[in-house]
Amino acid sequence: MKPQRILVVGAGHVGLYAALRLSRKLSSREAEVIIVDPQPHMTYQPFLPEAAAGNISPRHAVVPLRRELKRCKIVAGEVTKVAHTAKTATVQPYVGPALEIEYDHIIVAPGSVSRTLPIPGLRENGVGFKTIGEAIYLRNHVLERLDVAASTTDPAVRSRALTFVFIGGGYAGIEALAEMEDMVRDAINRYYPELTPKDTRWVLIEAAKRILPEVGPEMGAYTVTQLTKRGIDVRLDTRLESCVDGVVKASDGDEFPSDTIVWTAGVKPSPMIEATDFPRSQRGAITCLPTLQVVDGDRIVEGAWSAGDCASVPDITGTPDVNGQLPFCSPSAQHAVRQAKRAADNIRNVIRGREVRPYRHKHVGSVASLGLHKGVAHVYGVKLRGWPAWMMHRTYHMSRIPSTNRKVRVIADWTLALFLRREVVPLGSLHTPREAFDEAAASTPPRS
Ligand SMILES: Cc1cc2nc3c(=O)[nH]c(=O)nc-3n(C[C@H](O)[C@H](O)[C@H](O)COP(=O)(O)OP(=O)(O)OC[C@H]3O[C@@H](n4cnc5c(N)ncnc54)[C@H](O)[C@@H]3O)c2cc1C
Repeated sequence: MKPQRILVVGAGHVGLYAALRLSRKLSSREAEVIIVDPQPHMTYQPFLPEAAAGNISPRHAVVPLRRELKRCKIVAGEVTKVAHTAKTATVQPYVGPALEIEYDHIIVAPGSVSRTLPIPGLRENGVGFKTIGEAIYLRNHVLERLDVAASTTDPAVRSRALTFVFIGGGYAGIEALAEMEDMVRDAINRYYPELTPKDTRWVLIEAAKRILPEVGPEMGAYTVTQLTKRGIDVRLDTRLESCVDGVVKASDGDEFPSDTIVWTAGVKPSPMIEATDFPRSQRGAITCLPTLQVVDGDRIVEGAWSAGDCASVPDITGTPDVNGQLPFCSPSAQHAVRQAKRAADNIRNVIRGREVRPYRHKHVGSVASLGLHKGVAHVYGVKLRGWPAWMMHRTYHMSRIPSTNRKVRVIADWTLALFLRREVVPLGSLHTPREAFDEAAASTPPRS
């Protein structure tokens, strides 16, 4: 029999783990695994705040696909369309014409994108915090603001440069804000005699009345107290109304200019799934059964699987609502990697003529880092604060990042930072690499 072709769309938390497991559990006579992603690496997103703060090298917060997925075929490109009725996906490679890839099974896992709102000025002045590029850009930008502030004589420029605004109080926003504040305080105390940490202004704008829902109300309230003690202005029940030309207007009537506006107010399923013929929920996610099979009403879509941030997967450990409707698994790495393994095992079962099994995982809680030696955790009912929570955060994520190679590199980064302290130099020119050469070439007189 011809090997079954399994196409994996996206090499993130779901895609990498699913492809790895399929390629290990099925022989090459049984299946061929093809994985498509525009990035040559999986990004371990929970390490983005630490990468931005300089505790981990950016290269170590990502997992190279070609190193980890040696038994899979890797296609560098973007899936632009899936016609499941014809079992064909269209892939746009980096260059050249689009490719058509036929498959027997597909795992759709392009994840999510920042959920933005039509707020005036947001598109032009905001930045997200979901990719390694955004994390490193933010690091360089924030550190560069210190140089701007230290060298200007204009108090307005200085105040604008030292005002940092984060919108959204989930773990991405809180960790990013807390790590950045910690890094800036460290940098100013050690290297900027012209500035003091009191010159900086950190503002968190959150529309709900609480932050960090992932760790529960008590730990969320504790986090607000900790951040406030550090001088961070936490504004709950407040929305960003506008940020045209970098002038932040909040719904509480306050208005101030800032060079740094970071949008971390949630995610929505990747828009790529709109270019598929798969059924979607109200939230725009692919509707799945607990077995991770795509479902249209009550009809299973044969050969189609989905998981992670782009999928609506009923949480069978949850309590049904008054209509008997189960809650859905939250978009988290915790679910994504476990769903990936279940989906891979179920595909193997189908190929071998066995029964599929439902995904079952009770969310165990969350850990969040609030800067060096500071954290908050609520895991298996145990609540931790400060150093123990921070240690748990590091240990947990070190154990979860794929491959021994990455684990060793991350531990080496942490150990080095312990002895040599973290690096706080901005490398902003990385974002405009051609500028110097372009200037040199422009000043060269033309041949006479
Ligand atoms: C800063 C931050 C911190 C976080 N911290 C935690 C945490 O502490 N704990 C936790 O549980 N969760 C955390 N999360 C959430 C977690 O990272 C996500 O829920 C998880 O990554 C979802 O996995 P996924 O595979 O669905 O998507 P991703 O891991 O985002 O992978 C999607 C992949 O699909 C690729 N892709 C996109 N479009 C296409 C296309 N058209 N064709 C091909 N490929 C495509 C992308 O390049 C990407 O590689 C955090 C997220 C962020 C941003």
